[in-house]
Amino acid sequence: MKKEFAVIGLGRFGGSICQTLSDQGMEVLAIDMDEDKVNQYANIASHAVVGDTTDEMVLKSLGIRNFDHVIVAIGDNIQASILTTIILKELGVKKITVKAQNDYHEKVLSKIGADKIVHPERDMGKRIANNIISNSVLDYLELSDEHSIIEVIANSRMAGYSLIELDIRAKYGINIVAIKREKEIIVSPQASELIQEGDILIIIGADSDIDRFQTKLY
Ligand code: ADP
Repeated sequence: MKKEFAVIGLGRFGGSICQTLSDQGMEVLAIDMDEDKVNQYANIASHAVVGDTTDEMVLKSLGIRNFDHVIVAIGDNIQASILTTIILKELGVKKITVKAQNDYHEKVLSKIGADKIVHPERDMGKRIANNIISNSVLDYLELSDEHSIIEVIANSRMAGYSLIELDIRAKYGINIVAIKREKEIIVSPQASELIQEGDILIIIGADSDIDRFQTKLY
């Protein structure tokens, strides 16, 4: 059965989530208290309704507890975001993802039991900053405070060597989980795989080990 999503708050963030889920063929209920926003998404989401989600009756009447995943993307109004999340929890929604505006907001959300808290501005800022400082880093995803996945371009110093010859796992404690080579993607490459200049290496590991790898090999 198709998963059903509800997106509350159709600003830039919520709107983008709603659009992407819809593009992927998901069932999406879009909710906002602003009628103009709702009209904007009327032809994109499966259903779009006007409603103030700090009102429990509104959420009840939409049958919100039957949705598989509810995304709270209320922006600046932190109070409304918190109250909406509490009501969703009380109504027994299975999975709630909430956008946090700041650390205080995040702390409260985690106390009241939001399943996933996202910080799009902060995370995107970190990602972009990391891409800016390093010429070799193409993309970056923080897994925890100390672990990341990064995409780097293989340079001439690595080219022609196999993974085992470079001994990356033992030397640096990091793992190359995939190699992108033009249109091809080699998932879990063999130790004998020869690296070519221009390959995109997808690496997972502790930040300190990734740093060491970059300083030594770049
Ligand atoms: P962004 O930073 O992602 O653009 P905004 O603050 O612009 O976020 O958008 C948040 C959206 O959430 C707005 O469209 C606003 O009307 C909506 N919103 C705010 N409070 C409520 C509420 N209590 N119920 C429903 N929608 C709300």
